[in-house]
Amino acid sequence: MAKIELPYLLDFCTLQTEDFTRIHTFFDNLKEGRLTTTKCMKCGEILWQPRTVCPHCNADEMEWIDLPQEGKLFAFTEVIYGAPLGMEQDAPFSIGLVELENQPMSVLARIDDAHYEDLEVGQEMKLKIITLEDGRVWFRWVHKK
Ligand SMILES: [Zn+2]
Repeated sequence: MAKIELPYLLDFCTLQTEDFTRIHTFFDNLKEGRLTTTKCMKCGEILWQPRTVCPHCNADEMEWIDLPQEGKLFAFTEVIYGAPLGMEQDAPFSIGLVELENQPMSVLARIDDAHYEDLEVGQEMKLKIITLEDGRVWFRWVHKK
């Protein structure tokens, strides 16, 4: 089957370098195995997803902080129809919202190692970093074993 080049505007993963995004540090850190986000240097709010401007106080000075890479499954569902372009061939697949350990924040991602029927709220999950064919990185959840 021929491989279809996706227009970048329809691509689920963003362009990750400094030329394209001001949050390129997130992807640089992810490549090093770190899940990070921004913390507002003015009001101290920890923001997810990473931001360049604080939605609470409008300050634009941020520092990067590491986030835990483990947590508990809070909610999940299955994508059967309407998967993002480039992922249609993977459906059905599950996505889950994981409450991070020791951090009042939840992170949504695909769940890589289980079918919907095998998932239960409260299961222990950990982050899995994936590298795409073109070198970009993204993340998913897998069960903590
Ligand atoms: Zn702020």
